[in-house]
Amino acid sequence: MANLENRFSNNVFFGTVDSIINWSRSSSLWPETFGIACCAIEMISAGCARYDLDRLGVVFRPSPRQSDVMIISGTVTKKFAPVVRLLYAQMTEPRWVIAMGTCAISGGVYNTYAVVQGSERIVPVDVHVPGCPPRPDALIHGILMLQEKIKKQHVLRKQDTGEAGDVAR
Ligand code: SF4
Repeated sequence: MANLENRFSNNVFFGTVDSIINWSRSSSLWPETFGIACCAIEMISAGCARYDLDRLGVVFRPSPRQSDVMIISGTVTKKFAPVVRLLYAQMTEPRWVIAMGTCAISGGVYNTYAVVQGSERIVPVDVHVPGCPPRPDALIHGILMLQEKIKKQHVLRKQDTGEAGDVAR
């Protein structure tokens, strides 16, 4: 499979198809309307008129079936982790995950038996946006990083690689 991918990625035709598909995917990211804790307020603010995520093609959708991005914006408790997994499983492929805030990235200050110590333990995270809470512009920076990451992907490559995500600084 790796040889096949290399042959295709070195081919002008498939390279062009890749860039067109990746451009369309990165230009129309549709996150779930899904907030968990205080970070969700900053995420909501990023979607409102002042920061206006729509101008980047980022439009929040009310159903995981219509979404390809999950923004984990808050503390994930172990009781809530199965819900996050279920919502992730219901999303369309290819799909991407942004962990927003220290709680989503590492459990934050809640180093307890009841809190998942990092969203990567339950879903593959593509971009981490640090802060407590991260400002809306930090989330926008994370989304721009995700768009750049998508533009480098190969259409034949498996999307859920489980690789460590990038950090938006
Ligand atoms: S990172 Fe801070 S702002 Fe975000 S959910 Fe955790 S405690 Fe709240």
